[in-house]
Amino acid sequence: MNAVQSPAAPAGAHLQQIDVRCMECGARFTGDQVITRCPVCGGLLDVVIPTGRALSREAFTRDQTEPLRHSGVWRYRPLLPDLPLESIVSRREGNTPLYTDDRLTAHSGIAHGALAFKHEGHNPTASFKDRGMTVGVSHAKAAGARVLACASTGNTSASLASYAASAGLPSLVFIPDGKISGGKLAQTIAYGATVVQIAGDFDRALALLRELTGTYQIYLVNSVNPFRLEGQKTIIFEMLEQRDWRVPDVFVIPGGNLGNTAAFGKALTELLAVGLIDRVPRLVVVQAAGAAPFAGYFDSGFTSFGPVVAETVATAIKIGNPASTARARRSIEQTNGIVTTVSDAEIMDAKAAIDRVGIGCEPASAASLAGLRRLIQDGVLPAGLDAVCLLTGHVLKDTEAIIDYHLGTGAADRTGVNRPLRVAAEIPALERALADALHG
Ligand SMILES: *Cc1c(COP(=O)(O)O)cnc(C)c1O
Ligand SMILES: [Zn+2]
Repeated sequence: MNAVQSPAAPAGAHLQQIDVRCMECGARFTGDQVITRCPVCGGLLDVVIPTGRALSREAFTRDQTEPLRHSGVWRYRPLLPDLPLESIVSRREGNTPLYTDDRLTAHSGIAHGALAFKHEGHNPTASFKDRGMTVGVSHAKAAGARVLACASTGNTSASLASYAASAGLPSLVFIPDGKISGGKLAQTIAYGATVVQIAGDFDRALALLRELTGTYQIYLVNSVNPFRLEGQKTIIFEMLEQRDWRVPDVFVIPGGNLGNTAAFGKALTELLAVGLIDRVPRLVVVQAAGAAPFAGYFDSGFTSFGPVVAETVATAIKIGNPASTARARRSIEQTNGIVTTVSDAEIMDAKAAIDRVGIGCEPASAASLAGLRRLIQDGVLPAGLDAVCLLTGHVLKDTEAIIDYHLGTGAADRTGVNRPLRVAAEIPALERALADALHG
């Protein structure tokens, strides 16, 4: 990809201090170069965070700069890229809750120990994508980008549209025709992005967008962007801070394009290096069985990787050729991690359980609980376990999936189905219906 900063990039000198390195060939670049792949070998890039000196908890988590201290991303600045303060575009993202519920602990199969849910649906645009987007858009602004763009099927486009609007910059979103949930499309339109529906799939949309970046000054915010991953590290930081730095045994996450998997290994390695933790949790990555190229790669002992044609109800992880595969492999190796799969039925049943206790999430998120349950059932993980599951998106992100689960074909065979009652508008009929519904 081409450098896109304008001749008068406002913060070029500042960005030159940021060290960017290719994870494959080690080539070194600086933060003023707007690249998302190594120009030498095509490898993935890392922003290098200096970790040579020990960090205290206080120094790490208590940024007193207004308004950054209100952001659940920017208050961890000591382990984030040093972007110029005047470029930072924040919507007070992060600060998400850590929930527990005994019914879900029982559902998971954990017999003694604990289970908590880090709920990233409680971000400004209702998915974890905001944590990466605040860093990506801030970097774009510092680099003088004129237009921000992504190809996406939903949450990334909603997040980009919102953050670009906050920055006062135009955003351009390419979406595959007819393959985006109504809620995610509505958000993207409402925040004012220029939406282009491509008569083709996601890969085609991205390829077309990449061609255009050569001609126009377009900053591409796709998931290989190393600055986005820096923001996603703060999910780990905030989760550990909320637990008073008690490291769980496992951290269980859905895996799609594998940006989170990549970011979390990097976050944990940096925390170890600065002495904030002395061991790491095992990362457990859960893919949908119909979209599981990384699980296949893991099963082969990381010897053979093959992309797949992805199919799953969990559209946010419907990815056949994950962009961050190499970085994600590194994270699994660094944390003695596990990669596993669950069926769409297991995902939707886990989602119904999470919804039913009042927490709620979108389908992809529930892969975490479904995967944990399966691994305990199969004896891969013990029933005595201190676990945290990541919930990636909000229950309202995909209402079509909820309606289909409870009212669609197949609903009759499921437990926990909740059908609205249709009742005549008169008291005797209502009394009969409610007596049945409430007293069984
Ligand atoms: C983007 C997304 C994912 C996939 O995350 P990766 O980092 O690409 O593996 C999972 N769930 C939701 C809700 C998402 O928006
Ligand atoms: Zn390289």
